[in-house]
Amino acid sequence: MSGLPVPGWAQRLAEDLGAGPHVVVTGISTSGHIHVGNLREVLVGEAVANALRARGEEVRFVFHADTIDPLRKIAPGIPESFEGFMGHSLSRVPDPEGCHPSYAEHFLAPLEEALLEMEMDIEVLRSHELYENGVYTEVTREALEHTEELREILQEVTGRRMPEHWSPYLPRDASGRLTGHRILEHVFEEHRVVFEKEEGFEEAADYSKGEGKLGWRVELAARWKALGITFEPFGKDHTSRGGSTDTADRMAREVFRYPVPGRYEYEWIGIKGRGDMSSSRGIVLLPKDLLEIMPPDALRWMVLGRDPTRRSDLELESGFPRFMDEYHVERGEPFVPFTHLVTVAQTVGNDADAGAEMLRRGGYEEAAEDREKLARDLAYASNWAEEWAPESMRLRLLTEEEAREAAEGLDDDQREYLAAVAENLSAEMGGDEVQDLLYSAAVERGFKPKKAFAAVYAVLLGRKSGPKAGPFVAGLPVEMVRERFSV
Ligand SMILES: [Zn+2]
Repeated sequence: MSGLPVPGWAQRLAEDLGAGPHVVVTGISTSGHIHVGNLREVLVGEAVANALRARGEEVRFVFHADTIDPLRKIAPGIPESFEGFMGHSLSRVPDPEGCHPSYAEHFLAPLEEALLEMEMDIEVLRSHELYENGVYTEVTREALEHTEELREILQEVTGRRMPEHWSPYLPRDASGRLTGHRILEHVFEEHRVVFEKEEGFEEAADYSKGEGKLGWRVELAARWKALGITFEPFGKDHTSRGGSTDTADRMAREVFRYPVPGRYEYEWIGIKGRGDMSSSRGIVLLPKDLLEIMPPDALRWMVLGRDPTRRSDLELESGFPRFMDEYHVERGEPFVPFTHLVTVAQTVGNDADAGAEMLRRGGYEEAAEDREKLARDLAYASNWAEEWAPESMRLRLLTEEEAREAAEGLDDDQREYLAAVAENLSAEMGGDEVQDLLYSAAVERGFKPKKAFAAVYAVLLGRKSGPKAGPFVAGLPVEMVRERFSV
């Protein structure tokens, strides 16, 4: 569960929903990567569910994975041979990489793992199981009985003419495809439809056993009733005029006689400098990728933003350290500035004890105490440095030999300066003291600080500039610094 306070907008939505019990749903197709943009929808649902729970309501929070949906488009990177599975349920198409039981599971599993890591109080339901277990049986029967009314609503709202033999139900034929066949007979006592496979050939499907599904626009309204849904967030693609919520609202009221659930329309998110997130265009960032660089609550805060009805661009590159610092300020907790963690992480690798020592000498004693948290924070920082940091923030300590080569590029004054610093450096010095030493040794020689610090960075990092020198040098083993400075 999230440790963040419930945001104001979620509070207001919950107030509008009235008394429960409540079922909050979010749903996403499992036909491709479920990216961070999709996570925004889940997080909107979570915030509203939490707001309802906070006032004592009974709440079921559900993720409806559309696993029975037919394969319509081959996701980028999937072999062309999968064309042969077009129209087959995603739960019955093999995993293109062979690591999961099906195509649907291949794309659903990483999301499920991320939700688990985020300790989200959510039930993941697979639509093929809901159909197989009879959850959709009653609403399918109703839909079949009201075929004409549903068809009329579709035509009126979308302005498109539906085919003559349109049916709300797509039975699975013997080849495994879910398609809009002409329904010849509906035997409702047996939940069975007989349909025309092709002229003169009949097949049958039992809709209480998952042998087909409702068309997606009808399914949206039917799902509200089948699961007793009271709230569902939507992206703006669904809520446009004539879109799927327009048809579903009328179908719910006029055919299924079910009240339209509370609604919230959220905006897209993008990645700053890279554009909108989209599975079909290949700009994909998975929730689990971001859990590599920040804790779950920071991810929640980043993806929701201050107002999910507004577009937001995730700052993952140069703006990320500031985001992380603001996140800690928001939570009112003491923290080490992220840029400093990045320096420490790149200096000590995954040695948390060395990291603690470096932080202690840099003046962050409190942060050094909880080793487990420190190890996690260092991992976030080093993963970020590797994946997202701008070149100017990437650090690598030179080897002894590289340092010797770098020293050859310095003038005699600079080398003498480094030697003088090395002589006065001691292991007891903290970051401020080392900073003072670096300054005073420069002043004694009549150097501009820039010339002095350039020498420091040159022999340690092979660069002209770097992180604040005092805490950085203080954090390194003193013997190593002496060696690098005495060349
Ligand atoms: Zn897989």
